[in-house]
Amino acid sequence: MRRTYLVCMLAAMFFTMCAQESQKKTTINNFKNMEFNKLTPEEEKIIVHKGTERPYTGEYLNHKTEGVYLCKRCDAELYRSTDKFDSHCGWPSFDDEIAGAVKRVPDADGRRTEIICNNCGAHLGHVFLGEGFTDKQTRHCVNSISLRFIPAKLEGVSTAYFASGCFWGTEYFFMKAPGVKKTSVGFMGGHVENPTYEEVCQKNTGHLETTEVIFDPAVTSYEEMVKLFFETHDFTQTDGQGPDIGPQYRSCIFYADESQKSVAEKYIHILHEKGYRVATMLKPAATFWKAEDYHQQYYAYKGSTPYCHKYTKIF
Ligand SMILES: [Zn+2]
Repeated sequence: MRRTYLVCMLAAMFFTMCAQESQKKTTINNFKNMEFNKLTPEEEKIIVHKGTERPYTGEYLNHKTEGVYLCKRCDAELYRSTDKFDSHCGWPSFDDEIAGAVKRVPDADGRRTEIICNNCGAHLGHVFLGEGFTDKQTRHCVNSISLRFIPAKLEGVSTAYFASGCFWGTEYFFMKAPGVKKTSVGFMGGHVENPTYEEVCQKNTGHLETTEVIFDPAVTSYEEMVKLFFETHDFTQTDGQGPDIGPQYRSCIFYADESQKSVAEKYIHILHEKGYRVATMLKPAATFWKAEDYHQQYYAYKGSTPYCHKYTKIF
């Protein structure tokens, strides 16, 4: 009996020692009981096995949207977009971290300092000091693949919806307008849920190509948006816009509330007084179905200009 007890004690001690030893081996093992996001083999290679993604290939290298970068593995908040800068080193660079989020670990060779997620131990990249890039003299050189981005919630903004023919051209002018925070293109006003571009082009979904405009009312106003809408397309055309003929290309203001409706009516009235025949429809805003990614900010992406929209001063 006593002998069995002794064997059990020794076995327990042995396993405890083994466990302590293996915990020392890699930091990541310290966090093995946490619930993690599932990683792809490519992500695992970098995040778990401390690899490095090829320079100039990462998703967030030239990413400039306002928001927070999280750990791909555990969703801990690591970096703010306000601390991101262009280092031209080929990887996203930050000169500061969210307090307490990132741990520095000297590399085995003593030459570089590794940075890991302080919550789960995920490998992020390396940190370099004294290079003179920014006043903080710090460059967190981070693999995009170790990160996940959450855009900042836009607060105190207003939303407007305009249809004026090919949405590439409508968005082109709105995304450049002062006070506009964000634009997206999609479909509104039809009876088909989650339509594709091809479905809308069949001309039987009832949807119009529509641009969602999110603007800061402290900088601009709905009136300015409505003026820009009328000044950037032919609102007298009834069967489409320019060479784009079809119901999905018709001119329409989708108003979000009664105050937007009255502003739109005011400008239609002004145009009537100026002698224009206004074909623009006025409809209450409905669900905005965002179009496929390749339609978003189309002309900015292509580096070209619209074929069917141009600015003409009226007001
Ligand atoms: Zn993490």
